[in-house]
Amino acid sequence: MTAPRTATGPVPKKRRGGRPGGGELLAAAVGAVPGGAARPGQQQMAEAIERSVATGEHLLVQAGTGTGKSLAYLAPALTVDGPVVVSTATLALQSQLVDHDLPRLADAVEPVLGRRPTFAVLKGRHHYLCLARLDSSVEEEPEDALFDAPRPAGGKWLGEAGRLGKQMQRLRDWAEKTATGDRDELDPGVDDQVWRSISMPARECVGATRCPFGQECFAEASRARAREADIVVTNHSLLAVDMIAGRHIVPPHKLLVVDEAHELADRVSSAAQAELEPQLIDRSARRARPLLRPEVAERLTEAGDALAVGLAEAPAGRLTAGLPPALREACTLLDAATRAALEAIGDVKADDPDPVRKQQAKAVLDELSKTAQRLLEEADHDVAWVEKPENGSRRALVVAPLSVAGTLATHLYDERTVVATSATLALGGRFDTVARALGLDAPPPAPPSPAAAALATAAAAGRAGTTPPVASTDGSRAAIGTVPATEGPGWTSLDVGSPFDYARQGILYVAAHLPRPSVSGLPEAAGEELLALVGALGGRTLGLFSSRRAAQQAAELLRARTDLPVLLQGEEALPLLVRRFREERESCLFGVMSLWQGVDVPGDACQLVVIDRLPFPRPDEPLAAARAAAVDAGGGSGFAAVSVPIAAVRLAQGVGRLIRATGDRGVVAVLDSRLETARGYGSFLRRSLPPFWYTTRPDVARGALERLGKS
Ligand code: SF4
Repeated sequence: MTAPRTATGPVPKKRRGGRPGGGELLAAAVGAVPGGAARPGQQQMAEAIERSVATGEHLLVQAGTGTGKSLAYLAPALTVDGPVVVSTATLALQSQLVDHDLPRLADAVEPVLGRRPTFAVLKGRHHYLCLARLDSSVEEEPEDALFDAPRPAGGKWLGEAGRLGKQMQRLRDWAEKTATGDRDELDPGVDDQVWRSISMPARECVGATRCPFGQECFAEASRARAREADIVVTNHSLLAVDMIAGRHIVPPHKLLVVDEAHELADRVSSAAQAELEPQLIDRSARRARPLLRPEVAERLTEAGDALAVGLAEAPAGRLTAGLPPALREACTLLDAATRAALEAIGDVKADDPDPVRKQQAKAVLDELSKTAQRLLEEADHDVAWVEKPENGSRRALVVAPLSVAGTLATHLYDERTVVATSATLALGGRFDTVARALGLDAPPPAPPSPAAAALATAAAAGRAGTTPPVASTDGSRAAIGTVPATEGPGWTSLDVGSPFDYARQGILYVAAHLPRPSVSGLPEAAGEELLALVGALGGRTLGLFSSRRAAQQAAELLRARTDLPVLLQGEEALPLLVRRFREERESCLFGVMSLWQGVDVPGDACQLVVIDRLPFPRPDEPLAAARAAAVDAGGGSGFAAVSVPIAAVRLAQGVGRLIRATGDRGVVAVLDSRLETARGYGSFLRRSLPPFWYTTRPDVARGALERLGKS
């Protein structure tokens, strides 16, 4: 076991064989940017990565907004023999790398390297047009494209079918001319159910050697390009699937850079999640029907009906007392029905008339069978819940792993050096919590503090609330134990800070005088505070709310009491709302969790970020609740170990919306007094944020906003 250290030490100046080092390549890349200048944090990060490549030690790097971290890892990546894989969480960052950073880097370093470095994007198979499905989509369309769409009420259905039909035609026209088959090139895009009818999930693909279109397959071509490239850009979900299922899609590599690393554990968890939906069973029954005797196909339909009944009876949320009898019965029926169907279909053979369709039917049945068995097993390492969104769009029985740290420890770190980076990795000023969640080594769990022990006792007696007041006086220690301890590989850490002068550019104001939030929605006093702050600046406010109800109440309040344009998430498409927020100078944009990470509005348009309450996981987030309960059951504090770190990451992401460029100035206002008053986790959360100038005085915050409003 290697103890975590801060990444320091010498960096090799020239590579073996006289090849340029990362510093030289970075200097060339920065020099090629008009007005580009060396940034100390960027250089420090590049040097640390080069050192990691040389020593093989994994590296966690916190790099604040404005560091230029993509060049800081791409430049040293070019010193590595063999391909380097870069994984991102969001499409936005993937596009930024592929469309902007990598071409610019390739231009800049070509004279230094003596050749032009190559790069490729690798996405999941379902992201590419499948020629085999396109070939058979005419006969599949009524079943798979149109009938799978949620049916709007009454006469709207025909209009909806017509809309989808037009999309299908546009898709076919595009298929005639696309060179890549990449869905992202289709502009405007099409609905998911239309795309599904001409794409192929990886598990259903028959394989290039058995597919009549294997030689021309777009997904196969993208993999071939990736095998030849110096840098392969992929996403966390594909990386996770590749890792867990051993699909070997991502080419072998010695260096893996995980950007937006604070998202990795969640994406891996999603990849390891499975679910049963009545519609999915129905669809698989229809697909398999031509290959089955009627009575075998009928058993699948009956299992789907049983699941629909079980889901209707069960309340939404985590199944803490095991599967209810009706859902258990449905899983048992499904397990038996899928096994019988798989046996009846048999193996896919070379001389099958339609191997693609047979493989598809088998793959879906196999997955249903495995999911039913997994649910029936009710293993301690899994969490099951019933999903019933408020809009009634679908009902599902879901199962996911309690923790992915062990999976990551087993699969991620062997045979490659991993650099994980994000603006949010050091929670409470320390990397331990994130390292543990990522399956890296960490100090042993701290014994529960007296407060945590009291909390555990209260919870056992049924007295603990969902957001207990105090967990530990040392947040970083308290956060240890998020997941069962794993003996992981050695790692080092580095925080390169940010080029922004947060203490001069921004104020963190906590409305400590407000009562502790106790009910859902926006309390009246918080609403008045919001009005005063927004009024002092004159709009230009991003409101990040913990619930849709609170966002709606805030929007109604401002619309009723001011003339400011208020944009509310959900009233229009989000990209459109963000564009209007950027362009309409006095506008305010209010929304919920997807805004906390997804908005990048530098300049005057966003000078006040208001957060209504600390973003602890809600009681109806089943995975967070199960993880906290597991820590409680082990004698620790689930609140300190699970809820506080989740809130710290979310809060840091939300607060990070304010300062996006060196000229930005503004105020972050948190209307939840616990950030100031809660002993232990209040200071832990504050230490997880950029070092803004801090105040709890409303007059100071309003005064600063008034001055900004006049400037
Ligand atoms: S190999 Fe064939 S079935 Fe698989 S994605 Fe390619 S075209 Fe589709």
